[in-house]
Formats: sequence, structure tokens, C-alpha cells
Amino acid sequence: MSYDIVEKLKKQIADFESTASVEEIGTVIEVADGVVRISGLPTVASQELLMIETPRGPVHALALNLEESSVGAVALDDFSHVAAGQTVRGSGNVLSIPVGDELVGRVVNPLGEPLDDKGPLFKDPASASHVLIEKKAPSVLARKSVDTPLHTGVTSIDAIIPIGRGQRELIIGDRQTGKTSIALDAIINQQFDSARRRPICIYVAIGQKQANVAKAVAMLEERGAMAYTIVVVASASDPAPLLFLAPYSGCAIGEYFMEKGQDALIVYDDLSKHAAAYRQISLLLRRPPGREAYPGDIFYLHSRLLERAAKLNDEKGGGSLTALPIIETQLGDVSAYIPTNVISITDGQIYLEADLFYQGVRPAINAGLSVSRVGSSAQTKAMKKVAGKIRLELAQFRELASFVQFASDLDDATRAKITRGQLITEALKQSDGAPIPFERQVVTLYAVLNGFFGAVSLTDVQSVNKELLDYIQQLYAPDIFEPIASSGEFSKEVEEKTKKTITEFFASRAEAH
Ligand code: ATP
Ligand code: MG
Repeated sequence: MSYDIVEKLKKQIADFESTASVEEIGTVIEVADGVVRISGLPTVASQELLMIETPRGPVHALALNLEESSVGAVALDDFSHVAAGQTVRGSGNVLSIPVGDELVGRVVNPLGEPLDDKGPLFKDPASASHVLIEKKAPSVLARKSVDTPLHTGVTSIDAIIPIGRGQRELIIGDRQTGKTSIALDAIINQQFDSARRRPICIYVAIGQKQANVAKAVAMLEERGAMAYTIVVVASASDPAPLLFLAPYSGCAIGEYFMEKGQDALIVYDDLSKHAAAYRQISLLLRRPPGREAYPGDIFYLHSRLLERAAKLNDEKGGGSLTALPIIETQLGDVSAYIPTNVISITDGQIYLEADLFYQGVRPAINAGLSVSRVGSSAQTKAMKKVAGKIRLELAQFRELASFVQFASDLDDATRAKITRGQLITEALKQSDGAPIPFERQVVTLYAVLNGFFGAVSLTDVQSVNKELLDYIQQLYAPDIFEPIASSGEFSKEVEEKTKKTITEFFASRAEAH
């Protein structure tokens, strides 16, 4: 044999690849309420996607319980035709979804399939990159501290409980206290940010009625927010496993943008229903129930999700994922199991109070019980300058007000404090669906906190404030609003100009009346 042929043979042997493969096939042993017990899949992975062959076509299932002789899986599609004896194949893949910029403006389910009528998501499905739904959170070394504000457009939040990009801030309150409204306002408000810095928003609706989700999507659409928003839906009528997956899918989508160096904002509405779905699955899988019948790993359910919100350092591209999880409380009880868990995982909470809501103080934020542990380092200089002591003043006012409710003879100092508290409370009222651009918030707070509204009766505060802002918009926007918006600062010069303009406005008003 010539040397050539030997070399060729050697190469062929080296390149030889066996194409035969062994495929594991399992069998359904029993099925109840969408939970399927399967035998014969010894190497299946946790969270691997399985395919059950039913007479009506394949049904997706997710492997969750790996036991010695069987696998517990949950059906992700309609499971009415799944029956014992059917064949099950593993996909070899842990659950992943296709991601890409094409997702923006779309409504999808937790498996990444479109739910709107805008056609297929990707022109060329092969071009979409797939990401795992469950992923490890960025390590401490990949992160840096929160330093850029994320304005919600809700004045009381931006002034008192500021949120920074990469932060996790919980919105917590009883049912119907305006939780969803605050989250949607925060999304709508992002359109006021410059296109370069505008975060991609992801609204994850978990276990809500379809009609409510449709309302939220219509609202986002109408306000032009769908141009930069993705909605992930697992509604109340979907199987519990889809509800369980929804926040992780949304998070994976958010991470795609964060890892590209962009900013993203994700809302989980809400994690109480998420926990309930997980409890349902766990009970069906016969995992031992613990406190409030939740399984033992319920804390991990939410901590591994919220840990994935981050502000990445510059080497990692500097992107961020800000998370606004929502929790519903029963009769204001924040010490129940799920609320305490999530409070301890997040960097602060916005606490909404039913009493305030019914009194007409809306948004019904209790400033005393709400905190933002990292956001103040990201607050703009302008906001810090004008809103510095507002939290303290409001807290003192609430305390005083509850003490003196029945007292009639108040000393002047107390009366002044109460009047001022009432004025601030009134000025912070804001209807839902009307986020206020940051520079307008700054001017309002400046005027209110520096005594310019002294002569205005409480019932007129809102309308006079609107007149004032319109007046500035018409005559002095380039001198006042624009520099505040572009620099984030409230310089001496702009402050002087603002003071002069507000004085002028109130003088002309006094003349007219
Ligand atoms: P649920 O518990 O049902 O999810 P929720 O806490 O998310 O409720 P929303 O749906 O946001 O509350 O609001 C409940 C109702 O209160 C809605 O009709 C909404 O329009 C109204 N609302 C919310 N915020 C305000 C506000 N700032 N001013 C006036 N009305 C508001
Ligand atoms: Mg809601």
C-alpha cells in the first residue's frame, strides 16, 4: 500500500462517526388532571420537553418529577386524549423558546407561540435563536450597582420610592387597589424616554381572565406602547403548567435584550397566581405539602426568577433587566407566606392600601410602608433636589392626622403641618393611564413644596397644576422642561427661571380672578 492510501484510511477512520442512535421510548402509566406518570425514560432531564403520541396528534409535556422507576410530567396542551399505554418520546431538549427582535409588539404564550393575529413570529424560523426558559442568574461579578433611573411616570413613586434599572421592586396590595395600573403606567411612560435608552417592556399576565388581558393589551396598543412591548400570556383558562412557565419565559425574553446591552423592564402580574399554579402542580405530583399547602421549594420558585433581574457591568454590555413583580394580599396581610417570601427577595416594595384607595387617594400608595432599597442612588439630581424631604413630611403628616382626628383645638404649627400634608397628598393624586413625564413631575413638586400653592384650595390643586404645566409648555418649554429632561438636573439657572415663571403664572391668575 502506498503511503497515500494509508493516510487516507487513517483519516477516514478518524472521521468515522456512528450515525446509529438509541432512542428511549416511554409509556404512559397513568394520567390525572394533566399530570402524567411515565415509565421507561431513564435518562430524561428535569424540565425536558416530552411528546406524548395520542390518536389526535402529539401532546407536549414537561418532565418535572424524576423518580427511580417513573417520570412525573405535566401536559402543556389539551390533555383530554392522553391515556395509559400511549408512547412518549423525550426531545433531548430542556424547554427553550425562540427569541429575537421580532417578538416586540407581539402577544405570545409561554412556549413562544403567537396568540395575536399578526402571523408567524419569525420569517425564517431557523434564524431565531433559542434560549432556555430556566437559566442561572448573572453572577455577582457580572453585575454592577444600579445607577440609572427607571421613571414610572407615577409621581409619588418617582419622588418617594425611586426605581433604578436592574432593580426588583414589588408592587403589593389587596385586590382592586390599582396594582396592574401602576405597572401598565410604568410601561406606557417609557415612551417619553429617548429611543436610545427606552427599555423593551415585557408584560407577563399570569392566571388573569382573558378579558382583562385583552383590556391591558388594548390599552398598551392605544397608547402606542406596543411599539416596544411584548406580552406573555398564560390566562386563567390555560393549564397550570403554562402558568408556572410564564414568568420564566418572559424573563428569558428580557434576558435576550439585556445580554444584547439593552435595557428591559418586566412585569409579573401576578406571582400569587403563579405560586397557586405551582402548588396545584406539586399536589398533583404528590410532593409533600408544607406551610399553606405550598411545596417546600416555593421560596426557590420565586428567588431563582427574581435573581435574574440585573444590571450588567460594562464588560458584559451594560444591559439591564428591571423586574416589577406583583403580589396580591388578602385584607392587607403582608405576613402571609408568599408575600413575606417575595418581600424578602426584592429590593423594596410599593405598598398599596385599600383604605387609601376607597378614600380617593389614588394611586393608593402608603408612603410609610413603601421602600426602595437601591433606587435612591439612581434617582436623578433634579428629583433629589425637589423631592428631598417629601417622604418625611408625608410620614409626619399621616402620623399627626391619625392622632388629631378628634381634636378640635390645634396649635398653629400642627395645623400648618396638616394643611401642608393635605396639599402634598392632593398634588400626588394621579389617575391611571396618565403617566407624567419626569420634567413635569419636577416642576409640580417644586411648586407644591415651595409654597406656591398656598392660596389654592385643595379641590383646585389638580386643575391649577395642570394650568401651570400647560402655561410653561406653551411659553417656556425650551427654558424649563427641555433642560430638565435632557440633563436630569435642576440647575440654579433653570430653578430661577422656574421660580420666576411660577410667580408670574400665579400673579396673572390672581389678576384674572
Ligand atoms: P386586581 O386585583 O383585580 O388585579 P388591581 O389591583 O390590579 O386589581 P387595577 O386593575 O389596576 O387593580 O385597578 C382597579 C380599578 O381601579 C380599575 O378600574 C382602575 O381603572 C382603577 N384605578 C386604578 N388606579 C387608579 C387611579 N390612580 N385613579 C383612578 N382609578 C384607578
Ligand atoms: Mg391586576
